[in-house]
Amino acid sequence: MNHLAKKHFSQASICYKQRNYSEAVDYYLVGLSIEPECVEAYADLAKSYEMLACWDQALQAIEQALRLRPSDPTSLRRKNRITEENSFYNIPYDAISSPLEDSRYFDLNVSPDISTLSDDLVQKISGILERTCNFVGYRLNFFPLDPVKVYIEEKHLAKSSYNDLDTFPDWAPAYYDGTIRIRCCNYSMSGLGVLQTLIRHEWTHLLVDLITDGKCPTWIDEGLAMSIARQMFSFEMEYLQTANRNGAILRLQQLNKPFSQIDDRQRRLAYYQAHAIFLDLIEQFGFSSICVLLGLIGSGEKPEDAIQQTFGKPTVQIFSDWQRKIDMG
Ligand SMILES: [Zn+2]
Repeated sequence: MNHLAKKHFSQASICYKQRNYSEAVDYYLVGLSIEPECVEAYADLAKSYEMLACWDQALQAIEQALRLRPSDPTSLRRKNRITEENSFYNIPYDAISSPLEDSRYFDLNVSPDISTLSDDLVQKISGILERTCNFVGYRLNFFPLDPVKVYIEEKHLAKSSYNDLDTFPDWAPAYYDGTIRIRCCNYSMSGLGVLQTLIRHEWTHLLVDLITDGKCPTWIDEGLAMSIARQMFSFEMEYLQTANRNGAILRLQQLNKPFSQIDDRQRRLAYYQAHAIFLDLIEQFGFSSICVLLGLIGSGEKPEDAIQQTFGKPTVQIFSDWQRKIDMG
């Protein structure tokens, strides 16, 4: 391989590991202009675009990798994943209406140092927030009394502290700490679907916190936030099944501590597992049972007693019943 191209590709992969995806894209593109037949570089370029929620470019790059090497397993796997994400996250721009007046539920603050954010995009973000408050609010039958502060900030690379980003394309890491903070690395219309999913997730945390007075067990909080935010993707289910075959499924105690304290390598698994167990609960007992559960915890019932009352079994059994299903699947 051309020496200069190789240098660009290795620089690209350093940027990717630092979660600096825009710069990674730039390096891949320069490298590919020198060495246009490099399958791996196209496949990695696709992954960088995926993290930036640039769906069209991600698909183009992975197609190019497959044109060069049609049965490349990594490229095929990546193509399936990106295709699935694209069909969920790529929401039509026109489908989001801009609210006409200030919301009762949130107070949006956009950091002035984000120069790339057009008024039009801010309007769309308000629109997404408004419809998310309604969507999650009606599901959980709860609306905050006072407007919640939502901050849209610049993503600073150095601050790669814990957040919910592990389960989403890295377009917009977010977290909830009484207020909702979203940090983006690429503000663009193509990322609005990811933003909507993130806001649903964080808004669920907010409502769960208010309903249960902060007493909700972590796995329920995260599982519910994941279930309300989006479907579970098939590649995530496959990841879980592989983990199960390898005996890597996390135990209840591990999912009961804050996910921020879970080892980096296991955090993704923790989210998938909480999501899957929760979907299973919803399928068996209906979504209304979840509202009953949160209400019981909110009224002062001990979480474990509330779980027993709602589902007729303790958490350990919920876990083992679910794992038995995974074993068979
Ligand atoms: Zn979360």
